[in-house]
Amino acid sequence: MSKLLQSFRVRLVLLFGSLSLLVGAATAFYFEQAASQEVAQSRGEVLHDVSRNIAHALAENLHERDREISLLSRFPVFRHSELHSPQLRLQLEDIKNSYRHYAWVGVADMAGTVRSAAGGLLVGQSVQQRPWFIQGRQGAYVGDVHQAVLLAKKLPNPNPNEPLRFVDFAAPILGPDGKVRGVLGSHANWGWVQEVVQRALSDKHASDGMQVLILNRKNEILFPYAAVGNPLPPALATIRDGYATMHWPSGTAYLTSKVDVDARSSTELGWQVVVRQPLAAALAPVKQLQQTLLLIALLASAIFMLCALWLATHLSRPIEQLVQVAQRVAQGDEGASFEAGKHSLELQKLGSSLREMTQQLLARKQALAESNRQLEQKVAARTAELSELYHLSPVGYHSHNAEGIITQINDRELQWLGYRREEVVGRLHVSQLLPPACRTEFAAQLAAMQQGQTVSTEDTEFLRQDGSALHVRVSANAHFDATGQFVFARSAVMDVTAQHSLEVALHSQQLLNQSIIHASDNGLLLYRADGQCVLANDAAASILGASRQALLEQNFHHIPSWQVNGLYQAALRTMAGRTERLLISGYSSFHKMVDCQVTLLPVAHEGMTMLLLVVKDVSELMQANRELEQLARHDPLTALANRRSANERLHVEFLRMQRSGTRYSVLLLDIDHFKRVNDSFGHETGDHVLQFVANLLHSGVRETDFAARFGGEEFLVLLPDTAPQHGLLVAEKLRASIAAASVPLVGQITVSIGLAAAAASDANENESLRRADKALYAAKHAGRNRVELAARDDIAAN
Ligand code: GH3
Ligand code: MG
Ligand code: MG
Repeated sequence: MSKLLQSFRVRLVLLFGSLSLLVGAATAFYFEQAASQEVAQSRGEVLHDVSRNIAHALAENLHERDREISLLSRFPVFRHSELHSPQLRLQLEDIKNSYRHYAWVGVADMAGTVRSAAGGLLVGQSVQQRPWFIQGRQGAYVGDVHQAVLLAKKLPNPNPNEPLRFVDFAAPILGPDGKVRGVLGSHANWGWVQEVVQRALSDKHASDGMQVLILNRKNEILFPYAAVGNPLPPALATIRDGYATMHWPSGTAYLTSKVDVDARSSTELGWQVVVRQPLAAALAPVKQLQQTLLLIALLASAIFMLCALWLATHLSRPIEQLVQVAQRVAQGDEGASFEAGKHSLELQKLGSSLREMTQQLLARKQALAESNRQLEQKVAARTAELSELYHLSPVGYHSHNAEGIITQINDRELQWLGYRREEVVGRLHVSQLLPPACRTEFAAQLAAMQQGQTVSTEDTEFLRQDGSALHVRVSANAHFDATGQFVFARSAVMDVTAQHSLEVALHSQQLLNQSIIHASDNGLLLYRADGQCVLANDAAASILGASRQALLEQNFHHIPSWQVNGLYQAALRTMAGRTERLLISGYSSFHKMVDCQVTLLPVAHEGMTMLLLVVKDVSELMQANRELEQLARHDPLTALANRRSANERLHVEFLRMQRSGTRYSVLLLDIDHFKRVNDSFGHETGDHVLQFVANLLHSGVRETDFAARFGGEEFLVLLPDTAPQHGLLVAEKLRASIAAASVPLVGQITVSIGLAAAAASDANENESLRRADKALYAAKHAGRNRVELAARDDIAAN
């Protein structure tokens, strides 16, 4: 069906057909709309005319009857004759005969008794309560339609389907004196209304459904009798004198016209004439016109469609020929061509374009075939290359299926394993390549891949066919189908035997290094450039008085003692590439007193420069040094500083004097007649005397003063920052304290003292010493046990 719709012919026919149908329908619709208004208006005018005519006829009739009764009541016979007189009776008969719709004509006296009537009807009966009598006494009167009361049974009813109904007319009868003496009344049969309506309504009107209603003042239907009591549309009240379209309570739309009956009679009855016609009946001609138009539109569409079919066939024939040529070309008929000679210019162009296109297509087809051939050659060459690469790659490859059976393997891996291809592919399970200890792990890995894990890498061992082990690194890549089902895994296998051996060697080397490091007596500390300690051996911990962990947690940028003893600056220099060596005596950062030699070496490790500290504990050596120092500078007998030490101290003081100008005094003491002590008490006692004097000297001078054994029984006391006069006091105090002391076994001994003050003019420290020696000589010479000031050191001169 949809294929049929794609046909050019069918489309053109449908397009023309539907277009003409659309135009026809639109025209018919437009005409219906325009004509409906027009026709409704003209029909409304007709209805209005009919209602006006009926209203006019009714009004004329009422007015005529009203006037007639009024005029007759003033006739002399009524004015002068007795109400029951024959003349009056004759007159009444004349009146009744003059108008065939008069049902009754008569007179009543003032008491309401009928005194005379045409045909003698109702004579003697009372009409006292009848409105025409009551109103007629006052003046001319027209009464609204009502059913017959007294006459109902006395008169024949011309229409047995309706009750007998009258319209009453009355007028007062005046006597010669001008006073009312009775009432002239008449009952006109309501049948005259039927007559008026029939006259106004032609047969055509009636057949078109036109219908007349007469309403009273209270909008109640008076005519026709069949419609009495029916409801009226509320919209009717809006029409005063004209027409409108409205829905009546029955639900039908009517074109409705209404006109008031202007009777100009003595009593205004307020009647209204309504004429209605069903709208459908009024617009029937329009409907007919519309149907005719639609029929014409249908006919026109059919004609258009036939024309379109002819045109489409004519136009599409060359196109179909073109299609056939194109199909033949598509099927490979390279000689197919389109004869465009007798067709239109456009089709000729299309034909030649098709020819060119065919030629181009054929050329391209050949080019494509050529490039396909080349491509296939390339693919074959590349496949061969890839296959060679696959098999000769330094990496082994194999694939296994969901069961773990090897489905593909390259020559390299076969060569490593020592298997033949046919022994492996489709036969060997991967776990058969693994040592038993690794098979459980492989099973777990296979399960993980079944669950969706895509990649895994691990180092393991493969068993060659001869049972020897091959250390390998296996990277497996899982492949899944569109539903996520595991299909196969391809593994790349690298022979890592050499690497494995290296790792084993490296590991044992590391163990060896560790042993050496921890067995070393030297402390070893390795720091990164950021100060982090990465290695600390037991010796370092022991030397520095800390645990290895505490050392590892220290950052050399934050060790306070390193700043103090210059180690930090040396470390910075070492990081710049220099080897440094420091001897450090002091407290370690763990509050241990240490004497150590620290060698700082830059070390390249793990791709960066690190700081290696080799800490050698030299406290024993330092202690020995200190003891040697003590020996070299002190007199072993007295423990005082020796002569060498004294000379050094003299030199230091001399330099200080030169720098700051502070003078010092030098005392040389010599025990008097010491030889005698030796001779008398023995050499050993002589040694005791020397120790005794040394003690006195040591305790007799200030902390800042300096005492030394200068020679056999000769002592030197150096008084820094001391003038000669004060030096004299000290010398005298020393002399007196020695002289006053009693040496065990020996008793009293004395000393002679030579005192000299150093001077800025001295060439060196020896000059003041020489002067002191001279003064000592002078003291000896002057009798001993005395103090002598050097000649230049005259007290006054200072
Ligand atoms: P003078 O009052 O002139 O100084 O008389 P002296 O006896 O003290 O003079 P002298 O310099 O001749 O003698 C010093 C002696 O001191 C000679 C030496 O035997 C003795 N002597 C030197 N060194 C020591 C020593 O270490 N121990 C002992 N017991 N005697 C020593
Ligand atoms: Mg001496
Ligand atoms: Mg002496």
